[in-house]
Amino acid sequence: KFAESNVLQGLPKQFFANLVKKVNAKIATGADVINLGQGNPDQPTPDFIVKAMQEQTAVPNNHKYSQFRGDPALKRAAADFYKREYGVELNPDKEIAILGGSKIGLVELPFAILNPGDTMLLPDPGYPDYLSGAALAQVDLSLMRLKEKNNFMPDYHDLDPQIVKKAKLMYLNYPNNPTGAVATPDFFERTVAFANQNQIGVVHDFAYGAIGFDGKKPISFLQTPGAKEVGIETYTFSKSYNMAGWRIGFAAGNADMIEAINLLQDHLFVSVFPAMQKAAITALNSDQHTVRDLVALYEKRRNQFFTAARSIGWEPYRSGGSFYAWMPVPEGYTSESFADLLLEKAAVAVAPGNGFGDGGEGFVRVGLLIDEPRFTEACQRIKKLGLF
Ligand code: PLP
Repeated sequence: KFAESNVLQGLPKQFFANLVKKVNAKIATGADVINLGQGNPDQPTPDFIVKAMQEQTAVPNNHKYSQFRGDPALKRAAADFYKREYGVELNPDKEIAILGGSKIGLVELPFAILNPGDTMLLPDPGYPDYLSGAALAQVDLSLMRLKEKNNFMPDYHDLDPQIVKKAKLMYLNYPNNPTGAVATPDFFERTVAFANQNQIGVVHDFAYGAIGFDGKKPISFLQTPGAKEVGIETYTFSKSYNMAGWRIGFAAGNADMIEAINLLQDHLFVSVFPAMQKAAITALNSDQHTVRDLVALYEKRRNQFFTAARSIGWEPYRSGGSFYAWMPVPEGYTSESFADLLLEKAAVAVAPGNGFGDGGEGFVRVGLLIDEPRFTEACQRIKKLGLF
């Protein structure tokens, strides 16, 4: 009786839902599954942020509708954070939009600034929800292949000039999900030049912005000269402050794009819970020592996992950030058949690379969101399969 709309039917299948189903079916057989498939931070939200939220929940008036477009104090804190962390100047009122998680901004932006039939460039492999935003906005897609030989940064010379001519918006994401690759300043400079030359808006997803290894802090796209004229960057509290379930983030940069997001959100949301916005201010204004500790933990896990994987002859791509390892699939398997085999025979769940697009074929993504003994055990179980 209530059939799904054409737009809804046009959405891509949520591949993580499929993965969870397979993992749960395996667990139901009584298997001790080591789940390295998902991207859900395992560490708790730092106490001082939880405490700020608890205190603010009891403050009079925080139960009321929040201000449209978010608390000005949070936008100020976000601008100050960008100034301190990246040396980037932002106008809190015009160049910051508060989001109920960065995914909201990423999915709603095409709807806010494109028209059906416009063309969007997306990274392949890439975070699957970019596809959802494109499908909701009914725009055409063109995929930019990320190749290992280019450290998983697109080569703009590879793109079809006819498609580039039609493109209005492009998405990038570094540190990258799923590969863990990090961007170079040169690449972002090329991106601004390419965007200017072709009148293409840029959205840089900086979800893993805080998580860089080997003493190298990932760069913000907004640090690139001219970036604010061509694009925005989305930031989230989910990963750096372990607040994935809280649902809060922000977008920063180009004032026209920010205004379009805000205009759309005026219709869809008021803003996020006022007490949570205050807790988010506490997080941004802190000395960031919890973030440094978290990054040290993820780097330790990456190194431990790389050692364990190499010891069984499984050579990883050398990731520079994020909490993922991007692992090659052995000869004779697809990413999906290999992931299925690991789950079936070793009770180890990994995300098949093709879930991030055809460009992810040949790899699986391992999420290091579990304590060390478990992922080392995962490697030992995989060793017994005799594939490497
Ligand atoms: N972008 C990337 C690349 C992600 O991996 C994720 C979450 O996994 C998000 C965005 C969504 O983050 P948020 O929790 O802010 O919606």
